[in-house]
Amino acid sequence: MRVTVIGGGAAGCFAAIELKRREPSADVILLEAGPRTLAKVAVTGGGRCNLTNSFAHVESLEKVYPRGFRLMRRALQTFSNEDTVRWFEREGVRLVTQADDCVFPASQDAMQIVRTLQNLMSRLGVEVHTESAVVSVEPGFLCRLRDGSSIDSDKVIVTTGGSPRLSGLSFLEGLGLEIVSPVPSLFTMKVGDIGLNSLTGTLAEVVIGIAGTPFRASGTLLLTDWGISGPAALKLSSYAARHLADADYRGILLVNWLPSCEDILSLLSGLLASSPQKQLSSIHPDGISARLWEHLLSRAGLRPGIRCAETGSKGISRLAEVLRADTYPITGRVHFKEEFVTCGGVSLREINPSTMESRKYPGLYFAGEVLDIDAVTGGFNLQAAWSTGYCAAIACLRQNQ
Ligand SMILES: Cc1cc2nc3c(=O)[nH]c(=O)nc-3n(C[C@H](O)[C@H](O)[C@H](O)COP(=O)(O)OP(=O)(O)OC[C@H]3O[C@@H](n4cnc5c(N)ncnc54)[C@H](O)[C@@H]3O)c2cc1C
Repeated sequence: MRVTVIGGGAAGCFAAIELKRREPSADVILLEAGPRTLAKVAVTGGGRCNLTNSFAHVESLEKVYPRGFRLMRRALQTFSNEDTVRWFEREGVRLVTQADDCVFPASQDAMQIVRTLQNLMSRLGVEVHTESAVVSVEPGFLCRLRDGSSIDSDKVIVTTGGSPRLSGLSFLEGLGLEIVSPVPSLFTMKVGDIGLNSLTGTLAEVVIGIAGTPFRASGTLLLTDWGISGPAALKLSSYAARHLADADYRGILLVNWLPSCEDILSLLSGLLASSPQKQLSSIHPDGISARLWEHLLSRAGLRPGIRCAETGSKGISRLAEVLRADTYPITGRVHFKEEFVTCGGVSLREINPSTMESRKYPGLYFAGEVLDIDAVTGGFNLQAAWSTGYCAAIACLRQNQ
């Protein structure tokens, strides 16, 4: 049997290793467009590679996989996050789970993951061809390469990763597959407010959302000189990826600055009543920094220098409203500032969710970000690559028996 894996990223290398390890007599050819395999894995997690998550605080898969959670439920049953940890530790990579549930190599070096996968491919005899971009896949299966050559194989696993442009999937055109138009996910947003933009470096635990939509995200918000970043902003960009693309990255950002407080009005009234002679600027609630508090006072039309006792019930109500449902204009998407993944890709309707095999073309499989699967940050995207790559490899072998 000859299997061609198109794309030498996380999913492709993982699938190739599993194929060759389980069926040493198979010819496993891996075609990578770039000069080296696993180039993206090398830069994941800021060069540390957040390769999975403990899932200890995942309430529902839908919250971490906005696209593809049903398929991921099945894939994780076949190859879970715990399997990932065991797999890499068996290969001699010691892993650590951080307090935030993210799993990294103890070496804090993504290159350890890259080298482990590359060494395994070489030891097992996976035939790796770099600078070998596939320009078309024909049923049967014939892969045509950019240099004019072609490779015939019994089975093909497509693992070409995400592409924010439809052209990245043009090599599949001849197969007539349904493609969900790709748009970016996991980006930071521009916010047009001079006051907010002057708070660069400020962190707050918030719930943010987009007005007029159901999209909400909680977590740490980092204010920057262009807008918003940090886990809460990235999560919101993931949940609302398609909505924001359709809206040309414009909308109204909602911010609840004190999401853990159920009755902000009572909290404020109590706080002000306890220090009537103090200046309003000096009594900020827990979780709101002094700089952010001054900004919020000005949003509520209150002078920071007045005494708490002078605030008045209308002022307190305005401040409570600002703390509960502050609004700012979203004016765009920031390019290349943070990691991003692709929302969209080969439609999940095209594949059998247990085997990753194409419904139209038996023998053709898909894995990783080329599928319409993507996650929030935290190691979930790489876990999707390992799980779906594994499922495709074992199904590919099983269906050959
Ligand atoms: C900066 C950054 C940091 C990230 N950090 C994390 C993290 O810490 N944790 C996490 O879980 N996720 C992270 N991600 C997301 C994660 O890297 C991806 O989801 C994951 O790499 C997807 O794996 P893949 O194998 O599907 O695709 P990729 O890793 O993108 O690999 C696809 C490969 O296919 C090749 N290819 C494409 N087209 C062709 C073609 N026509 N012919 C031949 N080869 C082709 C590409 O060159 C590429 O090497 C990060 C992403 C970025 C951009």
